[in-house]
Amino acid sequence: MKLTGKKLEVLNIHRKGIFDMDAMAFCCDNCGRVIVNSATVKDKETGKVYVIGLDCKKTLIDRDIFARIESENPDYIAKYKIKEVKREFSDMQKVMAALDNPVKYSVVVYNYGSGQDIAIIDKTKVNHLGQQGESVFCESTGYLFKIGLKDVLLAAQSKGIIKLA
Ligand SMILES: [Zn+2]
Repeated sequence: MKLTGKKLEVLNIHRKGIFDMDAMAFCCDNCGRVIVNSATVKDKETGKVYVIGLDCKKTLIDRDIFARIESENPDYIAKYKIKEVKREFSDMQKVMAALDNPVKYSVVVYNYGSGQDIAIIDKTKVNHLGQQGESVFCESTGYLFKIGLKDVLLAAQSKGIIKLA
């Protein structure tokens, strides 16, 4: 675990196959394993940039974020903030998992008057109208961009992986 102890921040989330990343080695800079979904992270002290798997992101970065929230806030606020951040991490992983499994899931964009939502459709489920395909996740594009998925979602859309509903 080469990066243990470094102060890292996430710059971006990637998925191999959505980006053209021939130039990037797809081994985790921390554990050396081959990775599909990855985070580009920066060492806040040296400015060096690394690519790590999302599992290593959990142990290297997410735990630190929770510890910092706990040390900087009174208990009741820390609890609330940690819940929010956990939800953001799990939403991020849900979207990445759906992009990983196009046989089971489709990811679609809904445009409406003032905004845009992105939904995950589970193609194996039947919705309440008896149609094949049930929405299992739906969030605004703005929120998903905020939690680090901007580049991956825009790239997926430009490649036709995400379609307009
Ligand atoms: Zn790793």
